[in-house]
Amino acid sequence: MPSTNQAPRLKKPDPKTTTHHITVDDLVVEVVRKNIKNLNLSVRSPDGKVRVSVPRRISDATVRQVVLERMEWIKSQQAWFASHAERATLHYVSGEKHDYLGHTYLLQVMGGARRPKVSLHGERLELHVPSGSNEALRAQALEAWYRAQIKLLIPPLIARWEPVMGVQVAEWGVKRMRTKWGTCSIRARRIWLNLELIKLPPEYLEYVVVHEMNHLLERLHTPRFKALLDQFMPGWRELRQGLEQAVKQNGRLRMG
Ligand SMILES: [Zn+2]
Repeated sequence: MPSTNQAPRLKKPDPKTTTHHITVDDLVVEVVRKNIKNLNLSVRSPDGKVRVSVPRRISDATVRQVVLERMEWIKSQQAWFASHAERATLHYVSGEKHDYLGHTYLLQVMGGARRPKVSLHGERLELHVPSGSNEALRAQALEAWYRAQIKLLIPPLIARWEPVMGVQVAEWGVKRMRTKWGTCSIRARRIWLNLELIKLPPEYLEYVVVHEMNHLLERLHTPRFKALLDQFMPGWRELRQGLEQAVKQNGRLRMG
């Protein structure tokens, strides 16, 4: 897990803050009453616990109502964290779940290969490695395959969007990035894409490519930047939201 770089909080707890639990359907909800203006509902990573912070005047009945209204969202967040917890401890052994282009595959490790190779068979992702390969080698083999796949997808995307957007990308590359989905060096007209994008549905890769290319037209995330995106890719806000969901899985990734 990426570190959060947060300084320890030294603020004294508000003595008037109270905490108790209520049960809504079969969901245990922590209710924190304190000196705040707005109700704030959160599903915490990684355990999926639900907490509602509320101004003191808000009753439990109201909290219950809000939780019920947002139950579907809460469940989806919990499911997300549960699947993340599973993926956080990968050992690249048969039976594990691995993602590729938004689909989940069951890994099957096969020994006896002269050199590493990956192939997809329905729901199965076969990782062929030399016999006796350790975890690091298996991880490396899968990563190399991911990298090769994303590198096949990027050039056609750039070629498709260059004439539409009226920009030219001089160079592009793929790397593992801890904090960003993509970056753009405007002067060099070079874009970098995060290797993690190969695990998500392909429209997210396309959105990040378009977003980074858009920086060649507008340096910062200004209203003009957004207006250009609206023009090129009207559904970009939903894609950004989807990436924000994926952010939870990947720590603190954001758009560059
Ligand atoms: Zn940006």
